Amino acid sequence: MQSVSCEFNMFTEAEVKKRSKDRLRIIIPGLTFGVMAIFGYFGFLVWVKEPLLKSASALLGPMVSNVLLFVLMLLVIPLFLTPILIAERLARKHSLICPNCNADLNLLVPRVLKTRCCSKCGSPIVEGGRVRQSNVYDRWRMLRARHFLVYWFWIWPIVGTICILSIWTMPSTFQNFLQMPMLFGLIGTSSTGWALIRTRDKRYLLSFLASTVLLAIGLKYFWEMH
Ligand SMILES: [Zn+2]
Repeated sequence: MQSVSCEFNMFTEAEVKKRSKDRLRIIIPGLTFGVMAIFGYFGFLVWVKEPLLKSASALLGPMVSNVLLFVLMLLVIPLFLTPILIAERLARKHSLICPNCNADLNLLVPRVLKTRCCSKCGSPIVEGGRVRQSNVYDRWRMLRARHFLVYWFWIWPIVGTICILSIWTMPSTFQNFLQMPMLFGLIGTSSTGWALIRTRDKRYLLSFLASTVLLAIGLKYFWEMH
């Protein structure tokens, strides 16, 4: 039988933990910045919407004004996702990559620490301790590694719901900005949809569906009030 000799340098446990911590130190501010950018943008939109659309309508016609409004609304998606993507790119240098198979193990740090093996190819990659088989490691532990993102993206359905509830109790809340209620559904749908596709983590499905429902309610409101 072949002995377990490695042609690559193994990580130390401290090194794996440090990489994970350094990544979060970049990604969490990125997410926070994305959320703040959206709220800043909403404030900006409320402020410039009326005069901007009025002059666009006067200069180029109501059709262009409507298209402009639509474009302004769609801008929230890149505005939210860009800081996150930039943060992810910046955090790449702290990535935990399997030295044997090059698998990206960033979302599997607790599992790697527990098993000391790469979760993809099974090579021992962390020094010391007892090597455990990856497959005996509970799945919920693995899923826990990225739980913070799952909760993070609930912010849009929650804010959207508050929006809708405020309409029900006070229908005139968004009289000057009828698009507001659907915007949160729009960001929620795009960000959770993006996360869902990227991670294939089914737990995003619920916030994705909640956002889609909110988007539909927001659209309906816009249609009825417009
Ligand atoms: Zn590997």
